Amino acid sequence: MDPALDPATLAVWGGEDRSLLERATQVPVVHSVAFTYDDVDEWEAVARGEATGHIYGRNTNPTVAVFEEKVRLLEGAEAATSAATGMAAISNALHAVLAPGKRVVSVKDTYGGTSEVFTDFLPRYGVDVTLVDTTDFDAIEQEVASGCDVLYLETPTNPTLKILDLERLIAAGHGAGAVVMVDNTFATPINQSPIAFGADLVLHSATKFLGGHADALGGVAAGRADLIDRVFHYREINGATLDPMAAYLLLRGLKTLHLRIERQSANAAAVAAFLEDHRRVEYVRYPGLASHPQHELAARQMRGFGGMLSFSIEGGLPAVKRVLPRLRLAHRAANLGSVETTVGPPATTSHVEVSPEGRAALGIPEGLIRYSAGIEHADDLIADLDHALAAL
Ligand SMILES: *Cc1c(COP(=O)(O)O)cnc(C)c1O
Repeated sequence: MDPALDPATLAVWGGEDRSLLERATQVPVVHSVAFTYDDVDEWEAVARGEATGHIYGRNTNPTVAVFEEKVRLLEGAEAATSAATGMAAISNALHAVLAPGKRVVSVKDTYGGTSEVFTDFLPRYGVDVTLVDTTDFDAIEQEVASGCDVLYLETPTNPTLKILDLERLIAAGHGAGAVVMVDNTFATPINQSPIAFGADLVLHSATKFLGGHADALGGVAAGRADLIDRVFHYREINGATLDPMAAYLLLRGLKTLHLRIERQSANAAAVAAFLEDHRRVEYVRYPGLASHPQHELAARQMRGFGGMLSFSIEGGLPAVKRVLPRLRLAHRAANLGSVETTVGPPATTSHVEVSPEGRAALGIPEGLIRYSAGIEHADDLIADLDHALAAL
């Protein structure tokens, strides 16, 4: 597949050319756990990686391989490998690259699960982790310059929609000889290409926008081939493998990625503009709003501002508890990126593991609502919010 094709085209056709079975136009779901060989020499060649083919489902699978290839093309990467969930992709990538005595620099606003890996798991294995204020790029550069093996970035962040300067920070990471990883879940390859800024590895929770239908868990890492080899090897041995049926559902979702992201970005922009003018709303965070403190940076490095926003309402958590049940066009659920609008407070979604004091320290007020715009009509979403906020 020609990697120069537009992402809209790659989302539909990418990776599918090697999947034809009995002339089927759709990628088959290969549930078989093992693959049979009459010729033991051929079997051995495949097992050694000297010939193409599959041996055992924990290592590779034809349906899963198409999913990996489609994401590889969309991210403009040398290679890609998948995992059972986004957290499996993230933690496997970190474990594959790090070792005792190594140092990670990251930011305070990473996804809650990623943050747990940094604060709880990696330190137990003798990895030094330093988490810096997310938007203090000078401080990030200083920490990186004082020794860094992995620089881990996530932009926009969840749920505060902060933006990290990819060009500047990736250059700083490389200056220190670090591997730079970027969680691209919120932006998706439609809106942001970290590899174009030099990122070594891009990570996704495919559960979210890539799949887009909230019916399959999955994760993927794309980037430098030598690093992807290490992530693949770690994952094939540790076993957090993407299931073929989940890979099929993610592939089906990916075909409409560009349509969904365009619509979700437009809906989020319309909802953000409405909320910004609402008298019960204290503030709205959406990278596409001129009022976003980093709007210019977002406009420089993103092609679209995405489907995620958050807003704070008067009255804190009690007000959130009154407003959310009045929404008729939103799931109140710990998910995002689906075709249905999905809402929740950070206390039950991204930062469920963090105490109210910890959330306050992260600048996450109890009156905050995370809003993942679906593909509905914007007018209906706005009317629904208007009705719900009238409870205040
Ligand atoms: C959900 C999410 C993850 C974790 O993905 P899972 O598929 O739930 O394991 C990682 N990063 C971000 C930004 C997320 O939103």
